[in-house]
Parts: sequence; C-alpha cells; structure tokens
Amino acid sequence: MTTASESDDPRVPIVCPDCETTSRVPLPDVAETVERHNEQLHDGDDVATVDPDIADQIADLVADELGLLEE
Ligand SMILES: [Zn+2]
Repeated sequence: MTTASESDDPRVPIVCPDCETTSRVPLPDVAETVERHNEQLHDGDDVATVDPDIADQIADLVADELGLLEE
C-alpha cells in the first residue's frame, strides 16, 4: 500500500489540535481532506488545518485552493 511508484505529489501534513493527529496527504487531496475531517468530526468548524510551518512554504501553491491562508 505504501510503495507508490508514481507518487510525485508533495505530501502535506494536516494537523488537528483537537484530535491530536497529524496526517500526510497528497497536495491535490488537502482541501477535501481538511474539509471532510472538519465536517465529520467538528461540525464544520475549521479545526484541522495544514501544518503552519508547511503552509508557509506551500502558500503560493494552495492558498487559493484551500482558502485557509487568507491574510
Ligand atoms: Zn479533528
């Protein structure tokens, strides 16, 4: 399962302070994963989010898509 030979997508860490979990998902799945997690576990509150350290680095790539990094 973990031996993906064609995974060139950067993995993005998603952290949820409430659940105390961190999971890494491919960049294209970040927005959907965060949204689903928050909907299912936190009544739609924006609890889970991209790791702030990483978010800085990929802000240019995903800021628009995520809508989580508005300044
Ligand atoms: Zn959570």
